[in-house]
Amino acid sequence: MSDFDLQGIGMTSARTRARMIDRLKQNGIANMDVLDAMKSIPRHIFVDEALAHRAYEDSSLPIGFGQTISQPYVVALMTQTVLEAAPQRVLEIGTGSGYQSAVLASLVRRVYSVERIKGLIDRAKDRLSALKLRNVLIKYDDGNMGWPQQGPFDAIIVTAAPERVPEELLGQLDEGGRLVIPVGNGDVQELRVIEKNGKEFNETVVEYVRFVPLLRGMQP
Ligand code: SAH
Repeated sequence: MSDFDLQGIGMTSARTRARMIDRLKQNGIANMDVLDAMKSIPRHIFVDEALAHRAYEDSSLPIGFGQTISQPYVVALMTQTVLEAAPQRVLEIGTGSGYQSAVLASLVRRVYSVERIKGLIDRAKDRLSALKLRNVLIKYDDGNMGWPQQGPFDAIIVTAAPERVPEELLGQLDEGGRLVIPVGNGDVQELRVIEKNGKEFNETVVEYVRFVPLLRGMQP
């Protein structure tokens, strides 16, 4: 691709990105920090080049290995929900393309992210370093176990759907911390927010969403 073409994509993407932000606002995303972060992060570098022209549509897109980058509206909603806990340290399960990590990294002090597919991690790391986001730590592991060595966390965000909430994740929440997680075994899952208050966990359903399943074990 020539410099001229690259510049073309850059200019188009700034404009289509601004349109994506307008759509998010219309759909009820009100947190200006989230909107600003998503305005500044180029989503098109998180998808394959062949799909870059579709990066600012409100849809999930394939990222290889049978996985998908989440829909912008869902990223915005989950990030907004996470930020309500005023978190400094956030654990993400399911690094995928690294897009959700990048959005979080520009809003909180440190992001810890766990991914079970090695091939996705290498690409995600390249993208994050290209954007000079150095506050994301990625681990190749089964995220069902969380990241006990780094916990407890102010917030945990899970970007793949388990049938049931993994107990280990609840155990790694700090006091007042919240877990944002899609739960269900069907095509559509409940997006739940579970807040730790003392010995209690208060749960609400904020939306219905479609995520790939949270699997077990690791994959090269
Ligand atoms: N947050 C990602 C979404 C990727 S899709 C993004 O912004 O692109 C969900 C991801 O969860 C996939 O990459 C999948 O491999 C990963 N995943 C599924 N089960 C997992 C598990 N048990 N541990 C860690 N990651 C898992």
